[in-house]
Amino acid sequence: MSGLHHRHLAVSPDWMALYYRHPLEITHGEGRHVWDAEGNRYLDFFGGILTTMTAHALPEVTKAVAEQAGRIIHSSTLYLNRPMVELAERVVTLSGIPDARVFFTTSGTEANDTALLLATTYRRSNQILAMRNSYHGRSFSAVSVTGNHAWSPTGLSPLQTLYVHGGVRSRGPYAHLSDGEFIAACVADLEDLLGHTRDAAALIAEPIQGVGGFTSPPDGLYAAFREVLDRHGILWISDEVQTGWGRTGEHFWGWQAHGGSGPPDIVTFAKGIGNGMSVGGVIARADVMNCLDANSISTFGGSPVTMAAGLANLSYLLEHDLQGNARRVGGLLIERLRAITAGSECVREVRGRGLMIGIELVKPGTDEANPEAASAVLEAAREGGLLLGKGGGHNTSVLRIAPPLSLSIPEAEEGAAILADALQAAG
Ligand code: PMP
Repeated sequence: MSGLHHRHLAVSPDWMALYYRHPLEITHGEGRHVWDAEGNRYLDFFGGILTTMTAHALPEVTKAVAEQAGRIIHSSTLYLNRPMVELAERVVTLSGIPDARVFFTTSGTEANDTALLLATTYRRSNQILAMRNSYHGRSFSAVSVTGNHAWSPTGLSPLQTLYVHGGVRSRGPYAHLSDGEFIAACVADLEDLLGHTRDAAALIAEPIQGVGGFTSPPDGLYAAFREVLDRHGILWISDEVQTGWGRTGEHFWGWQAHGGSGPPDIVTFAKGIGNGMSVGGVIARADVMNCLDANSISTFGGSPVTMAAGLANLSYLLEHDLQGNARRVGGLLIERLRAITAGSECVREVRGRGLMIGIELVKPGTDEANPEAASAVLEAAREGGLLLGKGGGHNTSVLRIAPPLSLSIPEAEEGAAILADALQAAG
């Protein structure tokens, strides 16, 4: 038992549910593995979402952090620092947004909050379009565009949010439609909403919903939405906090699955880019970024130590083609998981892209969410030495797999075997 057992109450409000009956105390990591306080070693199939994008204790990142910390640990918003400028230049180029600027923050919440500040100011409108079942963070504005109400504790927002169909392909009123029909129905829904409203400022959307259970629309939905948005002058914010940096294998950004749409007006990112250090940010077209006419600041956004981590991490990712690795290893893993779960009465769907894979669990032989089974599989997998995530709507019944992007094929096979046993043990 961890030496911190029960003492976690000091840091956890009752609404902050920790994973596992006996919360895990992580002490160190290496590659795709982490260790707990009792010395147990786990293969980490969720660290990629919980910020470890490339690998645990990646020497290149550790060295960059240590060297920068040895020079100066400082918050530098009012001054320049080299890693910040170099990271900004690379991020802007990678974004595909012409004439883009980046503003660094310390989290995804703060990035989305800034994106909403920009969009509402640019358009002089407090009306936002968001997707049903979405998650965008924890601040007042971020919860008020979060369609997953298990994560949206208040509706008392000054934003007026209208929720659009389309984030979830496999459930809901349009689930029986073909991909083309689904897109047409969602576009009609959007047009209908816009017909009854004033000018909305922006649509904010995750290309693949993360917390919502790794659900995704058919490719092309956001390109079809874009045409409608453009007609109204409405901005498109792509929340790439989970889907960015090649995780989906086929694409560097999640929005690119919607080829033909061109880049969004605003992209937000966070989590993985810092490989555990708190780096987030907003990338926007210069005219959108420059629309504020008063100062705005993030004291710790762009601080040299976190920027050095981001720069070293991004360089490693690009030099080692981890996007390609996500495509290859993720493709194999999803195949293996489909084979393992074929015929299971408890598994409704294995879905995903690259190293972002969801397994939706249901009560045997029904379509009903099975959160108890998801918790039981998580516990059994931990016993077997594998860490997984959970997600999906009110009833968190989707197992989420998002390992560091350097996952090897033997590690993918090992994880799939532990998961197969855990699914059996959990009944
Ligand atoms: N957007 C998405 C898509 C996320 O998954 C998250 C975090 N789960 C956030 C925003 C918020 O990021 P943070 O927790 O860093 O504030």
